[in-house]
Amino acid sequence: LSLSDMVEARRICVCVRKRPLNNKEVTKNDIDVVSIPGNGTLLLHEPKQKVDLTKYLDNQVFHFDYSFDESSTNDLVYRFTAKPLVQTIFDGGVATCFAYGQTGSGKTHTMGGDFSGKSQNNAKGIYAMAAQDVFALLKQRRYSGLDLCPYVTFFEIYNSKVFDLLNKKAKLRVLEDEKQQVQVVGLQEMYVSCAEDVIKMIEMGSACRTSGQTSANANSSRSHAVLQVILRRRNQVHGKFSLVDLAGNERGIDVRSSDRQTLVETAEINCSLLALKECIRSLGMDSHHIPFRMSKLTQVLRDSFIGENSRTCMIAMVSPGMSSCDSTVNTLRYADRVKEL
Ligand code: ADP
Ligand code: MG
Repeated sequence: LSLSDMVEARRICVCVRKRPLNNKEVTKNDIDVVSIPGNGTLLLHEPKQKVDLTKYLDNQVFHFDYSFDESSTNDLVYRFTAKPLVQTIFDGGVATCFAYGQTGSGKTHTMGGDFSGKSQNNAKGIYAMAAQDVFALLKQRRYSGLDLCPYVTFFEIYNSKVFDLLNKKAKLRVLEDEKQQVQVVGLQEMYVSCAEDVIKMIEMGSACRTSGQTSANANSSRSHAVLQVILRRRNQVHGKFSLVDLAGNERGIDVRSSDRQTLVETAEINCSLLALKECIRSLGMDSHHIPFRMSKLTQVLRDSFIGENSRTCMIAMVSPGMSSCDSTVNTLRYADRVKEL
């Protein structure tokens, strides 16, 4: 049994990825407080103070399915996280991959890739690599007879409202029918004929996502972005892969100095991330009650938490710096709670 076979066998896979210290952190003499000895282990060296004010490092150990250090490439991370899930949707299942972490920890770098030109490491993201594998499998003989047709949707959830990134950020309604099936009304589902088509949609949607970031309500780090690859067979959904770039979970928003807008956003984000945790946990426990109505995010992802053939992967991103310690502890505890028992 290879390592990636093992990921495939379990329903929930939780990993952690550490990014390198960036120039800004190096300039500020920030120190790296995260080490990854391998084998899914992560050590956090949190600076603390005793009552007599002497300082010490509190070392905490965390264990995950995989831990990726700062030298890991997107390609490597993809191979152990989302890649096995592509198979799931061809087998008629629902797959979901989440990027979780504070703003600046590497969620978009991991999911969308880095083609800004500013950074040296032009790296393809999980979106593009998953799209390529979907088309590679469509060509395989065992699937080519199934008449599977691939479609893409791309939307954003901001303050419990859904916006279509492939249709000029049109605001969409979410409806639930008597069978508890959830529908995003009017969401554009685009037929795609090759991986390049998907990449074009991603570029189009990402540009739509970040435009107007300075206007009052469109900051991409405060919203969840969901890219879905849907395989249809005779117009029925055969399999669905949701790739989610979650809103930043940063700590330390000052309640007194923040404006109302920021407080509302923060409350909404906390609420949806809490709901997500509960829903993933209920998937791992085979619970019959899935609290998917707790948030818009979990409501639109309802299919991800039900069914025999649902697979979820969470990649928790951490910044290495001491200045990010509070958020990092928060991220690691959250990821720890999501693990299958
Ligand atoms: P987030 O989406 O979580 O807010 P980003 O993905 O935008 O964070 O990453 C913030 C910055 O750090 C970007 O400039 C990105 O290129 C860089 N970065 C993130 N992860 C890595 C990594 N593993 N290796 C190199 N640079 C990275
Ligand atoms: Mg981002």
